[in-house]
Amino acid sequence: MQLHYINTAFQGNYEAIAKRLRVDEDMEDEFRDIYDECVKIAAPKGVFTECEVTQDGTDTFMNGKRVRSKVVYSAFQGIEKAYPHVVTCGRELYDFAMRTEDPLERFWIDGISEAALGEANAELHRAVQKAYGLGKIASVRPGSLKDYPLPYQRPLFDLLGEGPERIGLELTPSYLMLPYKSTSGVYFESEEKYENCMLCPRLYCPNRREPYDEVMARSLGLEIPDPSDVANSKAGVTR
Ligand code: SF4
Repeated sequence: MQLHYINTAFQGNYEAIAKRLRVDEDMEDEFRDIYDECVKIAAPKGVFTECEVTQDGTDTFMNGKRVRSKVVYSAFQGIEKAYPHVVTCGRELYDFAMRTEDPLERFWIDGISEAALGEANAELHRAVQKAYGLGKIASVRPGSLKDYPLPYQRPLFDLLGEGPERIGLELTPSYLMLPYKSTSGVYFESEEKYENCMLCPRLYCPNRREPYDEVMARSLGLEIPDPSDVANSKAGVTR
C-alpha cells in the first residue's frame, strides 16, 4: 500500500476567523495572542491512499473490506478505485486546547483549529487529484448518515495502515477521532456533486455544506425527516 502524506502550514485569515467567533473589540488583544500562538504551532496533516472497489449484490468492498451502505453502493457504481483519507488540525493545536483551562480561550482555539482543518482538507483534496490524475472528486464520510455509520471508521483506518498513527491521529473505542478537529472519508471520482449533507436528515445543522436533497434521499430509501422541517429548511428557517 502506498501512502501519501501532506503537511501544511496554516495560513489563517484573522479577520474571517475573528468574525466567525464573534470576538468583541474589547477582547481583541487576548484573542490576538491566542491566534498568534495557534498560527505559530499549527501543523495540520493528512494521509491518503488508493484502494480497489468491487461490488456484489448490494455490498461494496474496498480492498476486500465490506461496506453495507446504500449511499456508498450508489456512489461507487461503475468505479474501480477509491481514495480513503484522514486529515487533522494536528496534535499541536489539540494539545494546546487540552492544556488551556479558560473556557473562552479554549473555544477560540477550537475555532482556529477548525479553520486549520478546513485549509488542510482543501489541500488534501487537491493532493489526491494530483497524485492520481483525477478530475472532479466527491467523498463519502462515515458517521454523518445512519446508512454509513461511525463504526465504518475502523475499516477506513485499516485501509490507511500506519498512516493515521504517523500523523498523530487516534481512533477511540467509540470510533471518534482525536484530535477531534479531524475528518475522514473516501474520495471517489464523480462528475456529479455529492456531499453527505445532501442526504443528512439534520436539517438545522450549523455546519451544513449543501442543501438537503429529498429526491435523492427517497431514491436511496433513506430516512426522511418530518415534511414540515424539510419545508422550513427550504424556506431558510433556522433553529
Ligand atoms: S448536515 Fe451537518 S451533520 Fe449532516 S453531514 Fe452535513 S455537516 Fe454532517
